[in-house]
Amino acid sequence: MEARPMRIAVASGKGGTGKTTVAANLFYVLNRMKQPVQLLDCDVEAPNASIFIRGKEVAQEKAGIKIPFIDKNICTYCGTCASVCNYNALVFVKQIPELLLMEDLCHGCGACSVFCPAHAITERKKTTGYVTRFQVSPHAELVEGRLSIGEAMPTPVIRAVKKSSSMRHTLIYDAPPGTSCSMVESVEEADYVVLVSEPTPFGVHDARLAYAAIRAIGKEAGLVINRAGLGDQEIYAFAREEMIPVLLEIPFDERIAAAYARGELLCQALPEYEASFQELYSKIVQQIQRLQVVS
Ligand code: SF4
Ligand code: SF4
Repeated sequence: MEARPMRIAVASGKGGTGKTTVAANLFYVLNRMKQPVQLLDCDVEAPNASIFIRGKEVAQEKAGIKIPFIDKNICTYCGTCASVCNYNALVFVKQIPELLLMEDLCHGCGACSVFCPAHAITERKKTTGYVTRFQVSPHAELVEGRLSIGEAMPTPVIRAVKKSSSMRHTLIYDAPPGTSCSMVESVEEADYVVLVSEPTPFGVHDARLAYAAIRAIGKEAGLVINRAGLGDQEIYAFAREEMIPVLLEIPFDERIAAAYARGELLCQALPEYEASFQELYSKIVQQIQRLQVVS
């Protein structure tokens, strides 16, 4: 198959469904096929792709936002900055007067400094996480975003991970689970989304929500059913109802769970799965090509 850069996001309705397993094994087979590939671990609150994909750390950069610094010698205590802040990150107490910045609420939007009539606000960079690049092979790289402990906003770190991507590579985004804005941030540039679910009532419930969020931003998705054989048939009914192609079923197998617990890649522990992930990749390529034809 001809190598062609494309962007594949791997998402899930909830944590623990096997999303990283799918993303990491897809990366593994592309690397084995000698295709230029980058795995972008956007699950910055709990990045764990590096447990399964080992590479040499080649670079690390800080990620963060610009927060306001208020020069109290210039500030006239007019309160404009607090009134334009959509995130309630600035508290203006007129009676004292005093101006307080709640750093954890600040989104670094810059509105306060733009609207300050006294030009009392400058911006300073606040580090909220790190982006680390691991060279796995001459043509394969893992880029990991990691939110610092105690920080509340994952999206600036996810943006920094995405900035590290190279369009000479096929990109695999390991998105955060759920339907949060960080999931949307991770999948919004994807050509196609692989939604990983398990056939349990909770799994199907959360997959429905995630699928609705994916469709709301205009993306198409295919389904990977992990631990197939466990639970009931509702996941198949959901796929039929929404006309979502089932791209791969990974059976419920204790050997897979044991490999996962040892931090081993499924395709390395059980090489018979390599063909399954190659087939998954082919199906994703077909879906992307179909979308390109209809658009
Ligand atoms: S940068 Fe934006 S979010 Fe932060 S305090 Fe200023 S207006 Fe509020
Ligand atoms: S807008 Fe400027 S001058 Fe007015 S309170 Fe805020 S920092 Fe002070």
